[in-house]
Amino acid sequence: MRPLEQAQADVLETVPALSTARVSVFDAAGLVLAEDVLAPHDVPPFTNSAMDGYAVKAEDVVQVPVTFRVIEDVAAGHVASAGLSSGEAIKIMTGAPLPAGADTVIKVEDTEPGDGSVLIRASAPAGTAVREAGGDVNEGDLVFGARTRLTARHCAVLAALGVSPRTARRPTVAILSTGDEVQPPDHETLAPGQIRDTNRPLLAALLSEFGADVVDLGVVGDDAVALRAALQRGASEADALLTSGGVSMGEYDLVKQVLSELGNIGLWRVAMQPAKPFAFGLIDGVPLFGLPGNPVSVMVAFEQFARPALLHMMGARYLFRPRVTGVMPDGATTDPAKTVFLRAFVDWSGDRATAKLSGGQASNVLSALAVADAFAVVPRGQDVVAPGGEVGLEMFTWPENRTATDAGVDLV
Ligand code: AMP
Ligand code: MG
Repeated sequence: MRPLEQAQADVLETVPALSTARVSVFDAAGLVLAEDVLAPHDVPPFTNSAMDGYAVKAEDVVQVPVTFRVIEDVAAGHVASAGLSSGEAIKIMTGAPLPAGADTVIKVEDTEPGDGSVLIRASAPAGTAVREAGGDVNEGDLVFGARTRLTARHCAVLAALGVSPRTARRPTVAILSTGDEVQPPDHETLAPGQIRDTNRPLLAALLSEFGADVVDLGVVGDDAVALRAALQRGASEADALLTSGGVSMGEYDLVKQVLSELGNIGLWRVAMQPAKPFAFGLIDGVPLFGLPGNPVSVMVAFEQFARPALLHMMGARYLFRPRVTGVMPDGATTDPAKTVFLRAFVDWSGDRATAKLSGGQASNVLSALAVADAFAVVPRGQDVVAPGGEVGLEMFTWPENRTATDAGVDLV
């Protein structure tokens, strides 16, 4: 058996890098910067008002109250036509450029409008309610480094700078379920021996959450010719292939046979539970992840192999979900020969994250996976988590946990 860390390293060393292109900030969330971003200009690009009020000279408002002639109104998006002299004020809106000669803004609440004039009631030192050019980002600054995975928040900064970033292409991933027993999820009546396909919906949703485009290759029975055709189609249309089923020891596990004909695919036994049988290799240069058939194994193998590999192909610096340390009040007993992924609820209400098993731990028990928040990871070499003992928690979801009622809204 190959230790999990070894198997992960082997996968990461094999997968190719995706090509790069410039993308619109509207399409960039979830993608990874292929180069450093340097600020082409200051943000804000000009010194402007942080308040609705009156632009004045601070030295003119040391003694208050004081009345000024209002020489102009300047709204956001407009520029004052003239500079400001002593004894004058310019009415200014939030975001409008600070007029030449002004160095402070008196907020409207501290003023009283007159006829072509304004009464200023409060004084304010120079710089009050003024946002300096470059106060957020300076021209030439390294804004975000290469290998950063962009979030909505990064996209907003890039938008402010007018930068269409160079990123790795968004990966396209083909998904395929195998097995004569597997029927599409909308199949109404199951004949004896049939089950519905849980793995494609699971993978399609995991991939869209991740930010990949999905090519659905459907369900293929245990038939070598159909399987070969589907895999070849997938390799021609996608950057990676995810199959499920057919990689264990059964006689009908054709996937491994077809895979070895199509490419340089290894059949691995990884020292992990679930998801010990796993096929990996390249078909025409396209990585294939042959995931086990059981749905819990599919998710574990996706999380441990496919997701980090996709991030690596995209050039991301960080590949793995965060792991935090929690405690398991009930403890657990696991196989010391394997890295074991237990499905757990995580309660964050106390001082420490507290993990409890979310249900049955067999690799076909989807219900316990559905309601879990994390994998409690018991490393190889460890056979027990003592009651109350520490365990690493790989969080795959951070669920919302406050309701409208908690926000003070009465539900009728
Ligand atoms: P296999 O690796 O093909 O022997 O499959 C292992 C187990 O997973 C068997 O019980 C299969 O019926 C089940 N399985 C395989 N593919 C799927 C699927 N797409 N959806 C649900 N269960 C599946
Ligand atoms: Mg099968």
